[in-house]
Amino acid sequence: MKWISDLIDLIFPRHCLVCGEVLSRQEQDLCLDCLYKLPKIEKIHIDEIEKVFWGKCDIVSAMSYIYYRKESPYNRLLHKMKYGNRPEVGRRLAMMAAEGLMQNGFFDGIDAIVPLPLSKKKHRQRGYNQSDYIAEGLSLKSGIPVIKDCVIRTKANETQTHKSREERWRNVEGIFSLAKPEAIEGKHILLIDDILTTGATLTNCAIVIQQGCNCKISIFTLAYTYNKI
Ligand SMILES: [Zn+2]
Repeated sequence: MKWISDLIDLIFPRHCLVCGEVLSRQEQDLCLDCLYKLPKIEKIHIDEIEKVFWGKCDIVSAMSYIYYRKESPYNRLLHKMKYGNRPEVGRRLAMMAAEGLMQNGFFDGIDAIVPLPLSKKKHRQRGYNQSDYIAEGLSLKSGIPVIKDCVIRTKANETQTHKSREERWRNVEGIFSLAKPEAIEGKHILLIDDILTTGATLTNCAIVIQQGCNCKISIFTLAYTYNKI
């Protein structure tokens, strides 16, 4: 049915989410040029991602896929995924990330993928949880199952964007609770979020999980805020 998709492309041209160029039939979300220049995390910053959690919670490893830099046009990918009703962008980026993660053994020993939950209210408003889609993308490539709802977000914290480091930490205290510890007891889980900045939200979630059950935790976020906002 190539002619149908060609026709649809002609009537409703799709555009690259980064540069705005019209996409060809083979391209998805990004044009080939923007895909080639995707700002993947460089080796020298990999340790930095784990250091975000040092002394705060006990994790096995942490990894992100791309940078979230101030003024970068690539941030549009993440905005579309999170606020623009395009969560499938997160799934596709996660599938690309998974290929590299599999090559370097990042998934070795991981039993389950756990997306960071949204509060019920926020989930309803947005219609989806972007972390669910990222988890799904990793799962599709790695074959590791996703476990949802073992931890829940009991209150919707205000947006972290314009808060200082200290405010961010206070803002997330007590927002998670462990609902089904038996689902992850004794497992090594991979906790998923969209963007890593101070790590306050993920740290709080990891602490709540480890207070309620015996499990190892690794972390994956799609993006890492390099120039701290
Ligand atoms: Zn482009």
